[in-house]
Amino acid sequence: MNDCIFCKIIAGDFNTDFVYENDYAVVFKDINPKADIHLLVVPKLHVESLNELEDEVLLGKLMMTVKEVTKKEGLKSYRTVINTGKEAGQEVFHLHIHILSGGII
Ligand code: 5GP
Ligand code: ZN
Repeated sequence: MNDCIFCKIIAGDFNTDFVYENDYAVVFKDINPKADIHLLVVPKLHVESLNELEDEVLLGKLMMTVKEVTKKEGLKSYRTVINTGKEAGQEVFHLHIHILSGGII
């Protein structure tokens, strides 16, 4: 967990700007955007992937966070993606939801 890049971002180690934050998640811009707007919704609790998530309430809260931040940013049309497992393209093993909007690659 100490080596987790997203835990470090949440802890403020890299002075990453948060587009949005609530009690259970932070939202920041993806460093390598695959769309005009590419945000990551990241739970403050370290969970490796959807496969390790047991808290359905947290999952609901994360999806509500998607709704809150897209509303705040004025995004009416967007795609949400959760990559689970290396073969599916997961690179960072701290659960996150991608939000992609406009010019999606
Ligand atoms: P995954 O492939 O695990 O679903 O998505 C991980 C995402 O995190 C990638 O789109 C990648 O560009 C992004 N990412 C990796 N390291 C960093 C970082 O240090 N800062 C930010 N803002 N995004 C990162
Ligand atoms: Zn983590």
